[in-house]
Amino acid sequence: KPIVMNLMDAMNKNIDDIIYSLLRNIGEKADKLGFKAYIIGGVVRDLVIGFKNEDIDIVVEGDGIQFAQMLAEEFGGSVRSHEKFGTATWKTDEFCVANKSYCREGLKFDITTARREYYDYPAALPTVERSSLKEDLYRRDFTINAMAIQINDSEFGKLIDYFHGIKDINNKKIRVLYNLSFVEDPTRILRAVRFEQRFGFLMDGHTQELALNSLDKIPAVSEVRIANELKNLFQEQHPVEAIERLAALGVWDYIIGDGVASLEVLERVKELKGVIKIVTNKNVNNQDIHITSPYDNDKYRFWICYLASLFYDNDQWLERVQRFTLNNDDVEVLNHIQKLEAIWQDKIFMQTSLGVIHRELYQFRVEAIIFVLTLTSDYRQQAKTIIEYLQKRVAIPALLTGKKLKELGIKPGPIYSEILFEYECAYLNGEISNKDQINYWLQSCIDDR
Ligand code: ATP
Repeated sequence: KPIVMNLMDAMNKNIDDIIYSLLRNIGEKADKLGFKAYIIGGVVRDLVIGFKNEDIDIVVEGDGIQFAQMLAEEFGGSVRSHEKFGTATWKTDEFCVANKSYCREGLKFDITTARREYYDYPAALPTVERSSLKEDLYRRDFTINAMAIQINDSEFGKLIDYFHGIKDINNKKIRVLYNLSFVEDPTRILRAVRFEQRFGFLMDGHTQELALNSLDKIPAVSEVRIANELKNLFQEQHPVEAIERLAALGVWDYIIGDGVASLEVLERVKELKGVIKIVTNKNVNNQDIHITSPYDNDKYRFWICYLASLFYDNDQWLERVQRFTLNNDDVEVLNHIQKLEAIWQDKIFMQTSLGVIHRELYQFRVEAIIFVLTLTSDYRQQAKTIIEYLQKRVAIPALLTGKKLKELGIKPGPIYSEILFEYECAYLNGEISNKDQINYWLQSCIDDR
């Protein structure tokens, strides 16, 4: 029998008002269709722990795609569905905002038909088929992620906890639901460490033993799946501790090979985290707020730098990290690291003016510069200048824009990017610090041409 309690108050407190009232409406809509509907997974875990989480996954005992389409018909917005998996994403748009006071643009709900999964062989992608809520919860990674809250009107807020997720949260334990869990999906070992570090939990003894016994299944997993989990892990607040924990478990031997746990590598990773923190000016150790991703992850791909740090002592480190890249930005970071390494000693370390450094470095990604910097950290004094450069570079204000150049009657063309680049150098050199100085500077810049 599942443990049942009501979490309506926690929902009211921790879920954004608009999302909360939408959930009530979604529950009423499910009643009309005769579906049972639940929020499920990470959002439930976070509600129980007391964290905010607006990443809402909904599971229905019924047709999830049909349900998502009905929500879009009733409230507006659009639906993208994957028939094969019985999953749909419903996104609200401005139409929803215009017509419903309890809605706003840009909300996203993943809506899924309750389903069970089969693995044809270890580490395979699963085959899915429709099922009950309990079976849907049973296929999940850990007990803390395998709870649901019903949202049908008469049952709104009812927590359903078949596998003692609440108890494990109270005891700070990460526990799998069945013995073959890691064998079926070895990426769960990386997920376990991610949740351990994020919440300060630990795998329970049996779960850890199962993880250790499944390490040899890791190489059967595709690089892209491993890479996605590593990216999620390294983007959180404790990448260094996660790397140490994975080393202690022996996981790196199956992803990278020997030598990863060496003190030298760990020192390099710590240095990397330190410089990232200083440059992005984010307090990544702040325990009070729950930031799963402390950086602007759309902009920066620091995760690939952590991976490069781990592989770096290997002769073929670049080729090996390249196999894990997830998008063009990752590839670009690696290319830039390679190019920078070649010019670093000759060009960069002799410079002291930030504007001059910018001329040398502007075409290189911040991530690549930080990475190369951590390889040469004995040059403390010079490192200080580069760090100062990076700190200023990531926060150059838009005192001058293409729009402003247009307003001033300058004909659009390559000259725009040349002037904007000169502006960046001038700003970094402290020649411009506010809007009032722009016109004067601009005039002299144009006169010089
Ligand atoms: P986060 O707070 O990082 O988003 P999350 O728990 O929401 O954490 P997701 O990766 O978004 O994590 O996954 C959503 C849910 O799907 C999880 O809570 C878990 O129940 C389930 N899940 C995700 N990946 C797996 C997996 N590899 N094996 C089993 N269940 C998984």
